[in-house]
Amino acid sequence: MKGICGRLLEIDLTSGKSKALPVKKELYEKYLGGRGLGIKLLYDMLPPKTDPLSPENLLFFLTGPLTGTYVTGSSKFVVVTKSPLTHGWCDSYSSGRISVELKKAGYDGLVIRGKSNHPCYLRMDGKGVEIRDARFLWGKDSFETERMLKEMEKNPSVGVSSIGPAGEKLVKLACINSDFYRQAGRGGVGAVMGSKNLKAIVVKGDKSVETFDRQAIVDLNRKNYRIALKSPVAQARMKFGTPLTLNVTHVGGILPTMNFRFGTWEKALEKIDSVGVYKSLKSHKACLSCFIHCSLVTEVSEGKYKGITLEGPEYETLGMFGSNQLIDCLPVVMQANILCDKLGIDTISAGNIIAFVMECFEKGLISSSQTEGLEIRFGDADASLAAVERIAMRQGFGDILAEGVRSVAHYVGNDSERFAMHVKGLEFPAYEPRGAFGSGLSYAVSPRGACHRRAWPPAKEILGGYPPYTIEGKAAMIKELYDENCVLHSLLVCDMPAKFVPMSLDVYSEYYHAASGESVSKADFLKIADRIETLIRMFNNREGFKRKDDTLPYRTLNEPLPDGPAKGQFIGEENLNKMIDEYYALRGWDVSGIPTEETLKKHQL
Ligand code: SF4
Repeated sequence: MKGICGRLLEIDLTSGKSKALPVKKELYEKYLGGRGLGIKLLYDMLPPKTDPLSPENLLFFLTGPLTGTYVTGSSKFVVVTKSPLTHGWCDSYSSGRISVELKKAGYDGLVIRGKSNHPCYLRMDGKGVEIRDARFLWGKDSFETERMLKEMEKNPSVGVSSIGPAGEKLVKLACINSDFYRQAGRGGVGAVMGSKNLKAIVVKGDKSVETFDRQAIVDLNRKNYRIALKSPVAQARMKFGTPLTLNVTHVGGILPTMNFRFGTWEKALEKIDSVGVYKSLKSHKACLSCFIHCSLVTEVSEGKYKGITLEGPEYETLGMFGSNQLIDCLPVVMQANILCDKLGIDTISAGNIIAFVMECFEKGLISSSQTEGLEIRFGDADASLAAVERIAMRQGFGDILAEGVRSVAHYVGNDSERFAMHVKGLEFPAYEPRGAFGSGLSYAVSPRGACHRRAWPPAKEILGGYPPYTIEGKAAMIKELYDENCVLHSLLVCDMPAKFVPMSLDVYSEYYHAASGESVSKADFLKIADRIETLIRMFNNREGFKRKDDTLPYRTLNEPLPDGPAKGQFIGEENLNKMIDEYYALRGWDVSGIPTEETLKKHQL
């Protein structure tokens, strides 16, 4: 089988030893790679109930069979671990040169276990891996870390992934940065890296990735690029990037506003939406090996934040630091974005937590006597930015916020859990589910907590003509979207070209054949996805998750949305339960969410 190396590199930071871990071809056939391989390995190798921040937790950096093959959108990797935020399954995706360099170094990924007795970084090339002293990097932000490591290598094109101070301080929303502006953001993967005293990973490969038919990959890229050039959706995405989503969610009434109280915000328009961000555009950029250059390089040209430049901000950051906090100033959102990236925290979780605190201040549930004098109120940009720093550095009240919104609600008490917007401890991303019930189901049953990457229901419910305020057909819709993305995240390609070109799983079947020489139909891909999602469910069940964890916050279930086209809508517990019943049945799980014997047999689990 081409396209894969057939082995991982296992590194034990406690003993300082490393060894190749062969991966049998049958595992690639049953699980593909990426997410699929990740759950198979985590399920088999991680002892149940492992403390996520203990040396025993495992940290996987995994590629897929399309990584490094020049298939469009294929410079992705996934970090798989047990999350310190949810204590369950965690898969966090990122672009990054490190994905391709790992394959070029001869490995499909890394398995990191143990804990170094001092800060260290991994330096890997085609000859092997070294565990090097990183005391000189400890405390540095992730941009400075990456810059220094690239300078030491005298090579700007090495792959570098690193954590900022937040990861070192075990902040539960700490991310892993790559190529400066790309983050494996969700679930606290940076804290797991920090718990192992691992500051960074540097990889430079020296081999080429063998493919079955490289010319076929080139031809498929050309064909699909021509389709993209004729697609208005792909063209809009290439011009405006993800900020365009803000215009979609505002019109659809699902733009999170004031801690998910409202679903629209007029003041966002032409300021922090596609038009506003486009005004700050310097250039377009794409991830390595992608013809959809959806990344916008922007710069602040005047005012207090003049000179700030970054790749972004992406929609999620605009939503969570913009409308959700009532901040309509793009330079502030950009500054928040840069701060989060450098200090190493997830912009989605951070923005969500700060908005929650703003609501607590508004309701008088928190006072400045608990926050070292800092009043954190809706619309207050300086307070928001100060809160980011305190979270990342675990300073004062920031130490409580660094544990995630669920913990902050426990600390605040007074029924504040009702408007703590999370599922299983992972903070909501920037889609209001009361205006699109499929998003509610998608968040509720997601094994990693509230997630916008398992499925992107707005494509159906806001743009695709599916009625948004009904539960009819939503279980089947979400299963279909989950399984499609599961295939893409296991082959390990970006899911955006699939949506915007669009490129169906039949197209990826052609790419897969060209890369690996194996023939897998769309139907077979979907069977593999069903198996993967079931095994992830089994992992979470083993960790103690139950049906009651597949739920939504009180606000989403009970409070009618007060504005926009979805005015008056709320999901309701009965509706959610019906959708969950249907979803479980479609998966072959019983009413408690436990896969039946028949299902296990079907999936050979
Ligand atoms: S579509 Fe955008 S995010 Fe995805 S790989 Fe291409 S440039 Fe990167």
